[in-house]
Amino acid sequence: MVLIKESLSCSRFRRPFEVVSMNLKVIKRAAFTLIELLVVIAIIAILAGLLLPVLARSKERAKRTGCLNNQRQMGIGSQLYADDDEKHAFSGVTNFKEDDLNWLHPKYVSNLKVFICPSTRNEINETHLSVPEPYPSNTSENWTGLAYRERLHDNDYIISDLQQIAPDGRVGMFGGTSYEVAGYLNGAWALNLDNIRKTQSSVASYTYKLNNAGSPQYNFAGQTGGASEMWIFYDADDPGISDGTRPNNDYPDAGDNHGTAGSNVTFCDGHSAWVTQKDFLRSWYRGTDESHVPVSN
Ligand SMILES: [Zn+2]
Repeated sequence: MVLIKESLSCSRFRRPFEVVSMNLKVIKRAAFTLIELLVVIAIIAILAGLLLPVLARSKERAKRTGCLNNQRQMGIGSQLYADDDEKHAFSGVTNFKEDDLNWLHPKYVSNLKVFICPSTRNEINETHLSVPEPYPSNTSENWTGLAYRERLHDNDYIISDLQQIAPDGRVGMFGGTSYEVAGYLNGAWALNLDNIRKTQSSVASYTYKLNNAGSPQYNFAGQTGGASEMWIFYDADDPGISDGTRPNNDYPDAGDNHGTAGSNVTFCDGHSAWVTQKDFLRSWYRGTDESHVPVSN
């Protein structure tokens, strides 16, 4: 009994030292050497380098989807406008060049954010202005033969920033929208071709006229098209005069809303779709029957 008691008391006495020594071993093991730390940092940097482009890509894809949703709402607005319109036109623009979107707002698209592509920094000042008449001042450019108020379906006001696309493209913070209107077929005065307003009847059985002999793969002259191929809206894409990243008009460049990947397009049957750069010119010619200058990069 005595022996056992002594052994117990002995072990009780030693235990704290054992614990301290074990803790020291653990602390010694947990500490990193400088080299180990550098290796860990290097691994984290490599992983971050691999992940960041993936994150950036998925962020742009989300913005592209947001843009497609905008265009879907504009597409529905265009369908409703055409149903209401006396001539059943898909837009209220005066010619193939104009991108005024006041005919959609507020009656057919009430939310102004719909006119801004999420991949841009474009902004719209919401100030209401009275409807100016006559418009445009050069009436030879008004191919509708209709006054502005008629094309606006009797809107009470206009918004100046809805009358044009943002002047500096996607980086532009000056007033303007992110979308162009393709309201006409064969819009090319320089070629003395027709400038046909896109209406429910004109697009339904349209026969392509543009003789694209220089690019036979895009020569659709004599073929018929339809509403599902005819463009009505697309991501704004003017060339940048002092911006070398946007050399081409109406062709996805690095500095355009979605870069060289492509562009969102809305068609005259109301559907919207992503069009890749590779398929862009084919879709452009089928969608507008309008001439296109050769692409340069
Ligand atoms: Zn867009």
